Amino acid sequence: MDLRELESALPRVEAWIDGYISAHREVAVPLATRGFSRLGLYFSHSTLQTTQVAYVPKVITPPLEQLGVSGFNDFEHGSYWGITYKDFFFIDSSLRDSESDHFHEAVHIVQWRELGAKKFLFLYAKGLKEDGYWNCVLEVMAYQNQTKFDKGTPIPNFEMELAQVVRHEAERAGLG
Ligand SMILES: [Zn+2]
Repeated sequence: MDLRELESALPRVEAWIDGYISAHREVAVPLATRGFSRLGLYFSHSTLQTTQVAYVPKVITPPLEQLGVSGFNDFEHGSYWGITYKDFFFIDSSLRDSESDHFHEAVHIVQWRELGAKKFLFLYAKGLKEDGYWNCVLEVMAYQNQTKFDKGTPIPNFEMELAQVVRHEAERAGLG
């Protein structure tokens, strides 16, 4: 991939994401209504209310190759338990009651909100390309905090600090 290829394909990727979200809007529910007891210790009520969750039999990535973004075959054909697009996330139906997986995706919600679609997609793609899925910065942030959540470690001002780290990483990647 070069970032210019991604940049020219971005409107198509975003259009696919918007269409995918629209197709699930009716079956989605606000995260706040799921009755999880610990998410509110980490995320603000407004974040939990504006985040939409849909449960799907299979979590899918955008069809990047078809949309003109090459070089992401492994990512595109991987299998995932959850994925976040904008203020909306999708979780495999079998994990409907896993608060931990909802926590992970809610971290991505904050990342999307702080970065906006363009910067999120750039930073995610750059990370995948240079560091791979498990080491890309936006996933590391989600997995490391999920581990703390799983252990019950309190993280004061979590959402605010997270937003700051996200902005810092974007600057570090030259996305200012
Ligand atoms: Zn993730």
